[in-house]
Amino acid sequence: MMAESMRVSGQTRLYCLLGDPVSHSKSPAMMNAAFAAASIDGVYLALRVSTGALGSVMEALREIDCGGVNVTAPHKQAVIPFIDELAPTAEKTRSVNTVVFDKGRLVGHSTDGDGLVAALEQDLGAQIQGGTILILGAGGAARGVLPALAARGAGSIVIANRSAAKAEALVAEFGAGGRLQAIPLSAPIVSDVIERADIVLNATALPIASGEFLDIDLTALKRGALVLDMNYSTTPDELRPIFAERSVVYANGLTMLLFQGAGSFALWTKQDPPLSVMRTALGL
Ligand code: NAP
Repeated sequence: MMAESMRVSGQTRLYCLLGDPVSHSKSPAMMNAAFAAASIDGVYLALRVSTGALGSVMEALREIDCGGVNVTAPHKQAVIPFIDELAPTAEKTRSVNTVVFDKGRLVGHSTDGDGLVAALEQDLGAQIQGGTILILGAGGAARGVLPALAARGAGSIVIANRSAAKAEALVAEFGAGGRLQAIPLSAPIVSDVIERADIVLNATALPIASGEFLDIDLTALKRGALVLDMNYSTTPDELRPIFAERSVVYANGLTMLLFQGAGSFALWTKQDPPLSVMRTALGL
């Protein structure tokens, strides 16, 4: 539902999310509420775009002087050839989740890394510095957050992926300094890391559904650990009592969505994002 105060005029600019699929996205609710609260004359839509059509859609958006674009799976890397310039956040990650239209010039940014760091530190009280971080998954989401976690002083980052070669490729690309390690997403090896991880990030396409997630025993987490599932579709109720008893902090991906969206809003509008309005729109 759009905010009641929203009006569409002849000057209203289009902002959009490009991905496939997008129908699950909560970004339109969050961004339209933010635009209304900040009196931005814009409307934000989620557009399902196939990989083959991505280039022509980007050109069309340039042509109509689009207000700004968010990019989600599977296009965060595929969009790069259609962008004129990469900001340092996108250059470092080779991933774009935000496009700024600057007088017809398309500038790509990534707010995923800073969004995740803000979610962990500001919303969940996590300490990244010196910690052991286990990332499940080695797709665009993992790629987008690796440099920010490393820059925040993570002690070690272990990437576990079903296709081990993809985790190894991320380590080869980002692994300078030796803090990154790749392991296959197989039960005994991951369990060993689970027991000592301070932070576990689920960056696979599968939401955490139970304590036996992807054959991994999440109940083996150490006391006081933190689990953030980047997916935001579900929060498994059966885990709550187990985690409460062990003081494990659990959050789904809404808090990361909030802060990465706040970063996009600030880049497009050059205004402070109305965080509390965006938070409410997400039901946080
Ligand atoms: P992606 O590039 O398509 O990567 C998907 C990852 O999931 C890969 O590592 C893949 O492993 C793994 N995977 C898929 N099916 C699997 C299965 N059956 N068993 C084990 N692993 C499986 O997607 P992405 O862009 O990284 O996004 C991942 C998730 O993060 C999505 O749900 C997305 O919505 C979420 N996300 C949330 C936020 C937020 O703000 N909350 C931001 C970014 C992303 P293989 O390499 O072996 O295929």
